[in-house]
Amino acid sequence: MINVTKSFLPDQAEYNAILKTSWDKAWITNRGALVKELEQKIKTKFHITNMIATTNGTLPLQIAIKALHLKGEIITTPFSYIATASSIVWESCTPVFADIEADSFNISPKEIEAKITDKTSAIIATHVFGNPCNLEAIDNIAKKYNLNVIYDAAHAFGVSYKGTSIFEFGDVSTCSFHATKIFHTGEGGALFAKDQGLYDKLYYHHNFGHDGPENFHGLGINAKMSEFQAAMGLTVFPYFDSIIERRELLYKLYMEILGSGKFQFQKILENSVYNYAYFPLVFESEAQLNTVNEALNSNQIFPRRYFYPSLNTIDYLKGEPMKNSESIAKRILCLPLYYDLTEDQVKTISNHILKHV
Ligand SMILES: *Cc1c(COP(=O)(O)O)cnc(C)c1O
Repeated sequence: MINVTKSFLPDQAEYNAILKTSWDKAWITNRGALVKELEQKIKTKFHITNMIATTNGTLPLQIAIKALHLKGEIITTPFSYIATASSIVWESCTPVFADIEADSFNISPKEIEAKITDKTSAIIATHVFGNPCNLEAIDNIAKKYNLNVIYDAAHAFGVSYKGTSIFEFGDVSTCSFHATKIFHTGEGGALFAKDQGLYDKLYYHHNFGHDGPENFHGLGINAKMSEFQAAMGLTVFPYFDSIIERRELLYKLYMEILGSGKFQFQKILENSVYNYAYFPLVFESEAQLNTVNEALNSNQIFPRRYFYPSLNTIDYLKGEPMKNSESIAKRILCLPLYYDLTEDQVKTISNHILKHV
């Protein structure tokens, strides 16, 4: 069976060896040595100012909204995972959708500007499939209207723009280290904020508001990463460059076979270093997608309809119609892409697809 992704797992002995130090000390959570080591390694490799490792990639979005004291309307993308929009509702704000660009699949700066009202407090944008948003245009809008920006960078580990890590953009960036993501800790995630004052707030928030064992800085929640998660991250991290290299090769092989004009592909932002986190393929119609998907499924190949449905169509999110997002969401399929996938499997998958279009 071939799924859309498969978690990268080195030899279990490597995980055990890394975990042993914390195991022997019987210190398995509450910001242990492995969590700190993982943060340090990630910050050093990608030249990141501040990072807080967390237990998943959803709590960081909620904590960021809380720390920035956001109220009223938050402009966001209809083309993302549900967590981007549900976090806004969870924090008692109202998501207002702005349509995506048909080529990058990212939120359109022009559409953002058209949705701004006197109730707008922030923009939450996703770097869809690791493709950076139009950072400069979004930054200009935020400055012009005095809005905060949160980037949901769940897919964007390892991505950079003009030589700067993608996590350095926006007031806050968040990431997910879920088992299905390009770099993972089983479950996990992170918060990033360049501003030291804001970073401190996020830090307190993620640990119950603790300021030492007996004092509280204010309100908080528990989003701490455990040593088990950090050990997984430290086991996977040394392989990250080879993971990217392998994915790039497979991505380019898909492109070579499928890139003949029958499909639409995601346009990656210029001046960025991409991470090949996904291989999205846009069909002519939903009917064509369904035919191909059924044929693949009957051959034990299971791509995923990321992202379907368009978030503005979900009942509790009460969105207006979004032309581009709904059109892409109905016609997009993410093909299997992971370290262990073979070139022959990419060829087999591609040939099944070509037979049905
Ligand atoms: C995976 C994902 C999340 C949530 O991350 P978890 O670690 O699963 O909580 C948020 N946003 C996007 C865009 C995602 O793909």
